[in-house]
Amino acid sequence: MTDAVLTHEVKRRKTFAIISHPDAGKTTLTEKLLLYGGVIQLAGAVKAKRGRASAVSDWMALERERGISITTSVMQFPYRGLQMNLLDTPGHADFSEDTYRTLHAVDGAVMLLDSAKGVEAQTKKLFRVCRQRKIPIFTFVNKMDRPGRDPFELVGEVESVLGIGVYPITWPIFTGGTFRGVYHRLAHRVYLFDAEFAKSSQSAGAEAPPVKVSGLDDPMLERELGEEGVKRLRDEAELLEAAGDSFDSSRFATGDVSPMFFGSAINNFGLEAFLESFTDMMPAPSPRATSTGLLAADDSQFSAFVFKIQANMDRAHRDRVAFVRICSGRFDRGMKIHHVRTKRDLRLANPTQFLAQDRSIVEQAYAGDVLGVYDPGVFEIGDTLTDGGDFTFEDIPSFAPEHFSRLVMADPLKRKQLAKGIEQLAQEGTIQLYRPPDARAGDIILGAVGQLQLEVVKYRLKDEYGVEIRYEGVNCSFARWISRRDGQPIDLQALARERIGTVAVDVRDRPVMLFAGEWQLNTAVRELPDLVFAETAHGV
Ligand code: GDP
Repeated sequence: MTDAVLTHEVKRRKTFAIISHPDAGKTTLTEKLLLYGGVIQLAGAVKAKRGRASAVSDWMALERERGISITTSVMQFPYRGLQMNLLDTPGHADFSEDTYRTLHAVDGAVMLLDSAKGVEAQTKKLFRVCRQRKIPIFTFVNKMDRPGRDPFELVGEVESVLGIGVYPITWPIFTGGTFRGVYHRLAHRVYLFDAEFAKSSQSAGAEAPPVKVSGLDDPMLERELGEEGVKRLRDEAELLEAAGDSFDSSRFATGDVSPMFFGSAINNFGLEAFLESFTDMMPAPSPRATSTGLLAADDSQFSAFVFKIQANMDRAHRDRVAFVRICSGRFDRGMKIHHVRTKRDLRLANPTQFLAQDRSIVEQAYAGDVLGVYDPGVFEIGDTLTDGGDFTFEDIPSFAPEHFSRLVMADPLKRKQLAKGIEQLAQEGTIQLYRPPDARAGDIILGAVGQLQLEVVKYRLKDEYGVEIRYEGVNCSFARWISRRDGQPIDLQALARERIGTVAVDVRDRPVMLFAGEWQLNTAVRELPDLVFAETAHGV
């Protein structure tokens, strides 16, 4: 069953993330989106607010010390009648499994590239998650005001490194080595870049209007760009036409082809064109797979899942906050929620929404929205919440860690507390825990997607469980979940005797192998043909 208001509300929601490598300009772009949306008045506010917000939440001294946000924040802002939900994907030192999980809560992504650097390591990792989910991806090439790589080279790199098609909707214009603007290939518009104007409007939330041209033969182009500039643009446009197909929206919807835009976030340049296509093409929340079939976002049944749990936001209480993505229906404050895993009914306490990092209690929310709710300890990552329905969403996978340490206890008498603490933190999804399959008392190895997760665990074990630990290096750089091709259980003792890598089980007793390097992983793949080596595990 659906109703018109619900359908309308769902349709105007765009829930997305920006994926990029640190320094590509994510903060700057986010700030500009908020400026264009009229949410903030002056550029610079996001960073300033970031400082303030962490002073308010202050949930961990570690967060304060580092001056970084460990949490995935959610920003909701209006834009031209739409409700944008921008989910932050922390990078820098606070890159973690949460960053990946957030991509399971979005319906699309903007891949932001630095024009001088192209596809960088972190972009690649985040892209892979988007690709697995087959969500649409926009590409924005930033910092065009600076000398960068040849645009054809960038297109080629995205196509070859990421294995996705690219359709440039805008194309950069150069005269000599100077960036002069972009040409909108579909709308036949020229956006001229004026460095002086751009500088004076850096803190603004709008840009100079484009010039409509009749096509690439328009005499205005020659007047503005000179003979040489126009010739280059025409030649390149011809090459693009010859090389590419017309824009295929169904291939875009499945993430197989990415519309590409060029511009400069800090200079308010090229964002209008990008935002116009983005608001047009970025899909509203689409049907999601459940254990009982597809569920439409505007179905009147309420459904949601937990994609992130953040502990100790408020140090006075031992509470945790669960971040919940609504997948269908309407949420009303105070409504009864069915927690499918435990088969319990509950009410969500203090459901909170996030408006550009200011928090407010939410009365109503719709599919596409994200709520932060107080978690008295009942939620786990991936939990499904409904208004009574007995079905679940697909699991959010665990992602293979890249940082490993052996855990060493400073005080052997606290073994019990340690076991409890580490088990809870691993179940919460803060860390991957590996223990020997035979003796539960053997060495524990911890694995994390980001180095900071390991420090967080050390801090929280002391702070919350009173256990001091330290880390020792371990000769391990890859972990793979393993299973037999024939579905039979693995004889872990026998596998350990093969002495290829370290055999262990994770917190859910799923078999894992740890490898010192790629060569060892390759050996295992070669020598153990009965096994499948998976980078992600389902059922966190
Ligand atoms: P993040 O790490 O991806 O969040 O990147 P920031 O938004 O903090 O930007 C990194 C640096 O690049 C900052 O010094 C920005 O001022 C700068 N920057 C962002 N966008 C542009 C741009 O379009 N052109 C130039 N020249 N610099 C930019």
